[in-house]
Amino acid sequence: MYLHIPFCEEVCPYCDFAVVAGRDQLASRYGEALVAEIRAATAWGPLDAVNFGGGTPSRMPAGLLERILQELSSRFGIRKGAEVSLEANPEDWTLQKAESLVAAGFNRVSLGAQSFDAEVLSYLGRRHTPAEIVGAVTAARRAGFDSVNLDLIMGSPPESASSWSETLRRALETNPDHLSTYALTVEPGTVLWKNVRAGACSPDPDRQAECWEEADRECARTGLVRYEVSNAARPGHHCRYNLSVWGQGEYLGFGNGAHSFRDGRRWENLRGLERYMDTVEAGRSPNRRFELIEGWAAETERVLLGIRRRAGVRSGRAGEALWKSPRGRELRRAGVIGLHGDRLVVERPLLTDEVSRAILALPQQESAGLGKVSGLGG
Ligand code: SF4
Repeated sequence: MYLHIPFCEEVCPYCDFAVVAGRDQLASRYGEALVAEIRAATAWGPLDAVNFGGGTPSRMPAGLLERILQELSSRFGIRKGAEVSLEANPEDWTLQKAESLVAAGFNRVSLGAQSFDAEVLSYLGRRHTPAEIVGAVTAARRAGFDSVNLDLIMGSPPESASSWSETLRRALETNPDHLSTYALTVEPGTVLWKNVRAGACSPDPDRQAECWEEADRECARTGLVRYEVSNAARPGHHCRYNLSVWGQGEYLGFGNGAHSFRDGRRWENLRGLERYMDTVEAGRSPNRRFELIEGWAAETERVLLGIRRRAGVRSGRAGEALWKSPRGRELRRAGVIGLHGDRLVVERPLLTDEVSRAILALPQQESAGLGKVSGLGG
């Protein structure tokens, strides 16, 4: 299950998520809308993984997060030992809040650290200090969270090679169970995108590749095993929610802009916060843009998602088609893809997007039972 909490103090210049700034006064009304949407959902479960993302879930009062979690538990059931995770920003994270959330049933926290360089944090529009990141990890540990993740953003223009090395060193020094390292991207419509169009520096992909390679080495050296292009974990601390998504597992998303995938159908919720709340309060469904993912589209999607994992993906029809295609032969010769038994593996993870493009360019295979993505209407 994915629960979207859209509240942020300010919108960071690179962010294109469904978020709002300075609207925390709507939190309890929004929480009630989430509860109503959960109550109206078709029975399913019990749940293996629950992920509160955003936005900034840690801006919501702990009591409200607990109420939503209780609603999920009574509607669907939460399996014993399930991963119950939330995202948090270091500046909102106190020991008291962390303790309340552990008491409510949360066992994993993903802290948006981003960088240990104050200049880079300022460029990214973040309001916390490096010291607050360390304090947030300590509070999460003391409160009893089983798993602590740090998110880092690499390769922003003001970040030097030594700054990234220092960020990695200090992040790993906090002894996280899980580390996510994402390259800064310029998403259309964001403030960063407008600045870049107006002549500001954009991130350098070669520099970001160097950052990734260093992160990969440093994680391995400190006992974090990379299990996906951007994610590394100590044994037993993989993010089960994300692994399920990359394995084409089913999920339901609640809240404005949340996506769901079940029974071969994908849909999304109304993105605007007010429209979402008005719709749910009027007793109507906020679900929109239904797509049926079947046949060849489902098969290519399975491989596109699966190749992000270090263990790769069962090759199947799309993997075999790639393997035999002219572009696939080039990628094999260059050592970019390989076969391990029946699994297709990207041997050079930095080129995963290149492999994805080759899969998307494969001619659609038409045969009995192989269809395509089709809109089902609202
Ligand atoms: S805190 Fe996260 S979700 Fe909120 S605006 Fe910044 S990047 Fe986006």
